[in-house]
Amino acid sequence: MKGLPASCFCGAVEFSLTARPMFIHACHCRDCQIQVGGPFAINGIIEAEHVVQTKGPKPKRYPMPTESGRPHDIYRCPTCATALWSDYGRRKVMLFVRMTLLRPKKGFGGQALRLTNPDAHIFTKSKLPCDELMLLDEVLALKARGKKTKSQWSKDAPIAHTTVKGATTKKPAGVFSVYYDMQTEWPAASLKRREACLAAMKPKAG
Ligand SMILES: [Zn+2]
Ligand SMILES: [Zn+2]
Repeated sequence: MKGLPASCFCGAVEFSLTARPMFIHACHCRDCQIQVGGPFAINGIIEAEHVVQTKGPKPKRYPMPTESGRPHDIYRCPTCATALWSDYGRRKVMLFVRMTLLRPKKGFGGQALRLTNPDAHIFTKSKLPCDELMLLDEVLALKARGKKTKSQWSKDAPIAHTTVKGATTKKPAGVFSVYYDMQTEWPAASLKRREACLAAMKPKAG
């Protein structure tokens, strides 16, 4: 199976991303913080057909309560309960895959974890104080070493849409208090993929 290999914590479930995600969110909302146990979740938005399970039992669905009432299902490994992906809106055709599950050593020349770099930070209005501390620590550490105080965050951000060979094609990740305008932030090719994906779920006329 070609593509980007990923697995849950215990290794029972393995799957492969057979395409690059259309867009990657770092979500700093309170729900994500509580659910993942960290300052933000990193989700790659990708067509369900490009998430191919290669090993293990069927992931278990956990419907989560949401403020809006819109369905949010988290699919987890039935053995270790690692969250694998979310289906927001129960649309089945588009998934939000936890990019931290990518295996660093395999695929894309060992660069897989670079692909976890987000295209956009969302819901930063609820970011935790440690989000700021990370940046501050980095600035101070770089200063102490006499280097430029350019944040690693902004330096690494464009890699999310880097080609496998390493040519940078993407602007730095956007930072948004809540959400953003998809039409201006998403690459045109990704917008097209999303449209095709959602069109596939609409009932056919006649
Ligand atoms: Zn597992
Ligand atoms: Zn969130």
